[in-house]
Amino acid sequence: MVDLSGKRALITGSTSGIGLGIARVLHAKGAHIILNGFGDEAEIVKIQKELNADYINTDLSSEQGVIDLIKQTGDVDILVNNAGIQHTSPIENFPSDKWNLIMNLMLSAPFFATKAALPSMKSKGWGRIINIASVHGLVASPFKSAYVSAKHGVIGLTKVTALENAEAGVTCNAICPGWVLTPLVQKQIDAIAEKEGISNDEARVILLSEKEPTLDFTTPEDIGEMVAFLCSDAARNITGSAYTMDGAWSAR
Ligand code: NAD
Repeated sequence: MVDLSGKRALITGSTSGIGLGIARVLHAKGAHIILNGFGDEAEIVKIQKELNADYINTDLSSEQGVIDLIKQTGDVDILVNNAGIQHTSPIENFPSDKWNLIMNLMLSAPFFATKAALPSMKSKGWGRIINIASVHGLVASPFKSAYVSAKHGVIGLTKVTALENAEAGVTCNAICPGWVLTPLVQKQIDAIAEKEGISNDEARVILLSEKEPTLDFTTPEDIGEMVAFLCSDAARNITGSAYTMDGAWSAR
């Protein structure tokens, strides 16, 4: 059993989906949780109470938003860079503002958060930085140019962070999920259902069978357990890695 008592964990984009699953698992293992992300105020207050957590609402699509987040959070022992969005379009029609937003939120924000969180981790000689990348950090799919580029980039950032801090007691790893049934993916299922004129269940099967050989979704809690393992003493020498949790998607 991983014991994270006394550790402060900041999880970006933790009001929903994977980030919330990670927050729940790390809370169960004793960490103090700092939540971040958007959403319904009453719902967020409920999550805050459930996890006895702090909540800091800053928009991470700008450098200032990330600086404000880390300033308000104070020192953290565990940083999980998770906030993300999706936009699909062929490159010729891909809106420039969407490209910039995705790159800012999913590549620049992890860089700025890492930069701000590192000094205190290094001074304590212990830190864990976990970047929630994607199988799309390793392989591509059409119409996701910004997402795939940002996720490939964040795996590069993971490796550099690991190398620069290899002797500092600070590890940095990426997790690369395939399909996880969260609001981000539900939107893609809804789009298939609408385009094909089929039910939600049928659209889910199409989505899975196209890419994920196990035909199963990874859950946010599965990813939380992997994060907890990467925070454990047993994982002290695991750094600079990118772990797939993709039902053999990238094995083909
Ligand atoms: P989600 O939509 O359920 O949650 C996204 C979170 O990010 C929310 O808390 C949202 O409020 C927050 N967020 C969005 N824009 C923000 C901004 N500008 N500033 C601060 N917070 C912001 O999505 P999810 O599926 O849980 O995705 C979480 C991460 O996991 C993303 O990085 C995504 O790319 C990655 N991922 C998801 C899947 C999947 O199948 N769902 C697969 C691989 C990787």
